[in-house]
Amino acid sequence: MSWSWRDNAGRVVWPVLIGEGFPHLQAAAVFVQVDARKIMVDCGALENRETIKTRLAQRGVHPSDIDLVLLTHGHFDHIENVDLFDHAQVVIHRHELEFLERLLGARPASRREVIHQYHAMIPEFYVRTISRRLDQHASTYQRLARELNRAAQPIEDDTRIADRAAIITTPGHTRGHLSLCIEDCQPIWIAGDAVTSLQSWRRESPEIYADLPDSIESSRRIRRSGGVVIPGHDRPFDIQSGQLVAPDHHGVRFNHE
Ligand SMILES: [Zn+2]
Repeated sequence: MSWSWRDNAGRVVWPVLIGEGFPHLQAAAVFVQVDARKIMVDCGALENRETIKTRLAQRGVHPSDIDLVLLTHGHFDHIENVDLFDHAQVVIHRHELEFLERLLGARPASRREVIHQYHAMIPEFYVRTISRRLDQHASTYQRLARELNRAAQPIEDDTRIADRAAIITTPGHTRGHLSLCIEDCQPIWIAGDAVTSLQSWRRESPEIYADLPDSIESSRRIRRSGGVVIPGHDRPFDIQSGQLVAPDHHGVRFNHE
């Protein structure tokens, strides 16, 4: 089942990957079309690479068609396929770019320190996973570093990218976390890990954060706007009701494919 949204102006929001939590950790990767610009918000982990290519191809999209990749933050499950989109600008917060540059440039023995410096709270298994992936997928990370070198456009503030679409700074999970807001009477938030899941949204207790008060404030900013959230690791849900979105909810459709 896939979820997609389209309005009369031809705007499209389509999670190519729907996020999942543990044990099948998978981050949302979302195709967006606004003002004829094709955008990917996050691009999954290496394990998702073929799925992303296949699903885009099923809708007639080639990775080279993508104009802009927005990386919500620098965690591996959101960024490893960035080099697929070889004609895209890559928008990332300056803090995340600096974190990645430090991490990729660090000796293996120093990685833990780099990761802990950037996160007030991060589970040990996640630190180990990040470090292990840098070793196991060294060539991927070399490509990623080259791609960031080629295409990264660091930003620091909220940035409008189309008539009714804006990149919004949503710090907390990491210092430079970004979300994309598609503005409508019911906005759609592509929230990365500013909102990881419906459960964590209800509890207001994130497992990973750089700054807890910032994380709570970013959630509140999203909550105040209403609409629908596409979380980093869960299915889309409605902000006001706190329920997963149902077919035709506010024009949002589930399509069986
Ligand atoms: Zn994350």
